Amino acid sequence: MTVKRNYEEIKETIRNACQRRNRQETEVNVIAVTKYVSLKTAQEAIEAGVKHLGENRVEGFLEKFETLNGKAKFHFIGTLQSRKVKDVINEIDYLHSLDRLSLAKEIEKRAENEVNCFIQVNVSGEDSKHGIAPEDVKDFVEKIKDYSKVKVVGLMTMAPNIEDKEKIRTYFRDLKSLQMDVQALNIRNAPCLELSMGMSNDYEIAIEEGATFVRIGSALVGNETI
Ligand SMILES: *Cc1c(COP(=O)(O)O)cnc(C)c1O
Repeated sequence: MTVKRNYEEIKETIRNACQRRNRQETEVNVIAVTKYVSLKTAQEAIEAGVKHLGENRVEGFLEKFETLNGKAKFHFIGTLQSRKVKDVINEIDYLHSLDRLSLAKEIEKRAENEVNCFIQVNVSGEDSKHGIAPEDVKDFVEKIKDYSKVKVVGLMTMAPNIEDKEKIRTYFRDLKSLQMDVQALNIRNAPCLELSMGMSNDYEIAIEEGATFVRIGSALVGNETI
């Protein structure tokens, strides 16, 4: 069972990265990103011990959720169109892509309970990336401070897909530093204790820089669509 073997290897890498930085490995949660794989493979991940699943499209999420509801925490990691908020917001455990005020407003309107949200930050400034510009994040948090259904549990980013590991590291450090700034605002609905950063190619660096959630697709469950 290769998912199980991948997961063991990833856990070993996480353990080592944590040791280097004097972190507890229990601080790091692995999200298996199942957007490119079947329900069966997602099930294998759960059997291997994975506790969190991530999907980036509403249809993919609903397909997995229908069968695996209760067996894992569900993370919505893709851009969420406002008109689709109602389809997922009361089922997911975490939203990683809060990237605009209109989305926060729609969540406020549609959610029955407080939703754990990560603000998606565009740390690299690439046009192709979604997310709020780093310099606008504190303002954004202030604007939604009275929202009762939006809880800013942390910040999320996607580093650019580049070779230069030290450059990638600077983006993760920037997100960590921004997290500290948000925490210092002391806003009731923005404890901001989590950092969602790191994917198959860069999760080790992300953990060294403070990630508490890593979103791993291809290195863990593979990519059945290619
Ligand atoms: C697809 C995806 C991932 C996982 O990517 P891999 O490189 O396959 O690990 C992580 N985060 C987001 C937001 C994604 O869309």
